[in-house]
Amino acid sequence: MVRTRFAPSPTGYLHIGGLRTALYAYLFAKKNGGKFILRIEDTDLERYVEGAVEIICDTLKSAGLTYDEGPGVGGDYGPYVQSQRKEIYLRYARELVEKGGAYYCFCTKERLESLTDENGQRKYDKHCLSLSPEEVRARLDGGEKWVIRQNIPEKGASSYVDLLFGEITVDFKDLDDNILIKSDGMPTYNFANVIDDHLMGINYVIRGTEYLSSTPKYNLLYDAFGWERPNYIHLPPVMRDATHKLSKRFGDPSYNDLLAEGFLSEALVNYIALLGWSPKENREKISFEELKELFSLEGLSKSPAIFDKAKLRWLNGEYIKEMSPETFAERARPWFEKAGVAGKYDELLLAKLLIPRVETFAEIPEKLAFLDEFEGFDLNLLVKDKMKTTLPLCRQILPALIDLAEKSDFSDLHGELTDLVQKLGLKNGQVLWTFRVAVTGAANTPGGASEMAELLGKERTVARLRNTLSRLEEAGV
Ligand code: GLU
Repeated sequence: MVRTRFAPSPTGYLHIGGLRTALYAYLFAKKNGGKFILRIEDTDLERYVEGAVEIICDTLKSAGLTYDEGPGVGGDYGPYVQSQRKEIYLRYARELVEKGGAYYCFCTKERLESLTDENGQRKYDKHCLSLSPEEVRARLDGGEKWVIRQNIPEKGASSYVDLLFGEITVDFKDLDDNILIKSDGMPTYNFANVIDDHLMGINYVIRGTEYLSSTPKYNLLYDAFGWERPNYIHLPPVMRDATHKLSKRFGDPSYNDLLAEGFLSEALVNYIALLGWSPKENREKISFEELKELFSLEGLSKSPAIFDKAKLRWLNGEYIKEMSPETFAERARPWFEKAGVAGKYDELLLAKLLIPRVETFAEIPEKLAFLDEFEGFDLNLLVKDKMKTTLPLCRQILPALIDLAEKSDFSDLHGELTDLVQKLGLKNGQVLWTFRVAVTGAANTPGGASEMAELLGKERTVARLRNTLSRLEEAGV
């Protein structure tokens, strides 16, 4: 059975590239009827951020990436948090020392620093490899500080076939005898990832290309233990532009930031799926259910993907266009609240007006700003050369508009307004523009004259028309 995992470090921030890796690992498992596992890699205690595990779990949940095993869910191969597996790593590290694949090192910081060459490069010189087992025992018993290092052969090379990048070969002389167990007894990533992937039965390791060239080192560990190596799929990074990776430091948004910016989770997941993968036919809008059917390794790209917010915005707009007014109203409620319209206006009417007009919820407050900014609007907005409207004309037709609004039951405002156009012998545009600006105080509104009046309701419409008329009178028009 296919078993994949997502193995984030709890740094307090799940970046888009990380979520993309998780999504592919999830989709690959589900496409193949397999299991998707979450493992928290928290052995670097200095980087640990309080609450970070919750952010990871919540983000996966929000994106729909339900994990079959992991923290809070359990499973047969737990614990799934590395800091709770310290003893396991130590046991395997000692076994590896026995097998000759690793050794204790007692070198001091000063000695290690002295190994740095003129280019600032440092390679450990296997100094402690020559210590006899008795000497090692004596120094351990004497309470000396130690680490355990991987014993990389001095000659030769190691190869493997990455399922995306093909054959990767690394010469042993380019590898360092990295630390596997640190002086605090915690494993490094270099060791823990192998032990855990093996013990957790992971047979497809899906992660970023930053691990492409260290994988031969990990394979040496699999080989030393006599374990079967997993399949590897290394994914190219997600970039901000041609030369920079997406990064928190430069203010690039995380998944949660984008949700807070008014993007929909389903549009985000759809867009993130396309950052390095494409289906056979060139489609862009693909539901989560379809992704689980369509995902395949053949569609993966070796080139870095560029995160394009304009495209995400477009895709988000496509998802919004397909929403029912009820769904839109429900999901946009926090944004209605932000715009100060919640409970004040008919939310379904608002939704109907906004659905074809916004690409993200964040545009809602701006689109509805006219509802609050009516008082004291610039009267010159009533003048529109193209429509041949003038202030005196407005003043002349406003009483008729007030009369109409007072008498109307608002069931066919548009029809009543067109009848009035006929009666006054004016152009449609002249009456509709005047009416719309007189009740909204805005040149651009998410809907036409009658729609705006329906949204405002009879009482507000009449009051606003009156207000505009008296302002014109005061201005001596
Ligand atoms: N903890 C590693 C990271 O966050 C995971 C790498 C892997 O998936 O093996 O980069």
